[in-house]
Amino acid sequence: MVHAEAGPLPGLPTFYVRNLHIQSEATLLWTFLYAAEVLRLSDDGSRRTEATHNLEFATRFCNAFDSYQFVVVRPRNTFERGWYFLKAFERRELELGVCRRCHSRYVRDACQVDNHECPQCKLKALQGSPGQGSRSAEMDIQSENSPT
Ligand SMILES: [Zn+2]
Repeated sequence: MVHAEAGPLPGLPTFYVRNLHIQSEATLLWTFLYAAEVLRLSDDGSRRTEATHNLEFATRFCNAFDSYQFVVVRPRNTFERGWYFLKAFERRELELGVCRRCHSRYVRDACQVDNHECPQCKLKALQGSPGQGSRSAEMDIQSENSPT
């Protein structure tokens, strides 16, 4: 018997932003893909570069993903999930938001309304004021222990 994985499917944008840890990791993955010129910044978020579906592009994606896996302890994104992540940006289901507190960019679901706070600022708010954090942020932390 095969058990369904809890949470959103890896092809859905909500998979990459479902809690603070995973959203932070998605932003880190975006950074590696940006550094490798696989993704780029544009006025309306980020899009894949024009050089697609060729060997050079695939090599840059693989190198960026290898770097991400080297840096992150127990990465949540497999190679397949990394590729879905790229496709979600291409379809504009994921985009970069700009944090209203620290002005950093962070990965967000383009179809969901958020409070324009990056995961790090949400976490700082929780740590700085015990018991004062927002209910949604507390739920983000609690869901951290959910299966991936
Ligand atoms: Zn922030």
